[in-house]
Amino acid sequence: MKKKDTGLQPPYGFETRSIHAGATPDPYTGARSTPIYQTTAYVFDDVEHASDLFNLQTFGFIYSRLNNPTVSVLEERIASLENGRACVCASSGHAAQFLVFFTIMEPGDHFIASSNLYGGSITQFGESFRRLGWNCTFVNPQNPDNFKKALTPKTKAVFIEILANPGGIVVDVEPIAAIAHEAGIPLIVDNTLATPFLCQPIKWGADIVVHSTTKFLSGHGNSMGGALVESGKFNWNQNDKFPTMTSPDTAYHGLNFYETFGDFGFCMKARAVALRDFGPSMSPVNAFMTISGIETLPIRMLRHVENATVIAEFLESHKSVEWVSYAGLKSSPYNTLARKYLPQGPGSVFTFGVKGGYDGGVRLVENVKLFSHLANIGDTRSLILHPASTTHRQLSDEQRINAGTEPDVIRLSVGLETANDLITDLDQALDSLK
Ligand SMILES: *Cc1c(COP(=O)(O)O)cnc(C)c1O
Repeated sequence: MKKKDTGLQPPYGFETRSIHAGATPDPYTGARSTPIYQTTAYVFDDVEHASDLFNLQTFGFIYSRLNNPTVSVLEERIASLENGRACVCASSGHAAQFLVFFTIMEPGDHFIASSNLYGGSITQFGESFRRLGWNCTFVNPQNPDNFKKALTPKTKAVFIEILANPGGIVVDVEPIAAIAHEAGIPLIVDNTLATPFLCQPIKWGADIVVHSTTKFLSGHGNSMGGALVESGKFNWNQNDKFPTMTSPDTAYHGLNFYETFGDFGFCMKARAVALRDFGPSMSPVNAFMTISGIETLPIRMLRHVENATVIAEFLESHKSVEWVSYAGLKSSPYNTLARKYLPQGPGSVFTFGVKGGYDGGVRLVENVKLFSHLANIGDTRSLILHPASTTHRQLSDEQRINAGTEPDVIRLSVGLETANDLITDLDQALDSLK
């Protein structure tokens, strides 16, 4: 539960914090890079120290399911980059989402989510959460009033992706935050596709930010992970909607998390209850990989955006391409919102439509050489996916259209290779459609 102050909050620049926030040289060895603390448990000073730790009366390490020094460095770094108060890491993005909802929801409760979400989140919310009694209504985020109309007395949160998967969509965060706050509930924003380098949702009213660190934060396609960040600004006591935060916790001798920990009470509860009891903790090795990845996040994201822009423009002018949906293009209906919320560019994941429909899509993904045909995003490598023949194959035509994965849709996650090589590869693969 360690909350050491590294002194590395703003006004230190984003690049400086990407490299230093949360990390100091190892006190015993002087090691400059954060060591991988590959240990399960930590020796107590004495019996009183142990009991204080277990009662959350002092901060420190107990057991790596709850916290670990390597993971803690990553947590402080992500909190700093998001301008949040505190962060909890988890074994995956989906695990982080589970921790967030378990911390505020009770059976029979309700939340509202944007219909433009990562496919796995739609299944998690619509199917598995429903079995826990957490009911989700999906609404089209393009009209913020849709969130207002879906509110019920049981609604405990609103969930959106600011830059939405599969790609090309930017959601107008500010009015949606205002609707949530008027209803006395938090806005949760999945910031995976943008990363805090391109957008910091807390600035626009988000109360909780979630990440799949698997993607651009770790950035090299080699480490699963997730994170949740709290702004520290949400008042859990303004109504009686959040007893999990504001009433005595029987597992901790009647501790009231919001009263005791205040602006980091949400993270304390997520860790001390949800992470403790369900156990999806991040491994120290994955934390190390993600810390290393974040050190180059600012320069990687600039290059991801630069490459994505060049490739989107190339595709837009190609005769075998019907349409391109990238918010960085002037032709995109989301270009104005992108300029507001993502002034340095709307990431590098987007979709386009190939001529020849389903068969055209299949031929394209089978003919690329440099692009990897797989289901992931946010790698140094460029990735390509034809959802209709892979991730969305089991769905009906109608479900596919609702999910924005019509037969001709191709999703790209543009990597960091030489842009011209990527263009040459797509060009030769598109030629095979003729
Ligand atoms: C991948 C992804 C997730 C899920 O994260 P995992 O690390 O795969 O569990 C959630 N949201 C978005 C936007 C994603 O891209």
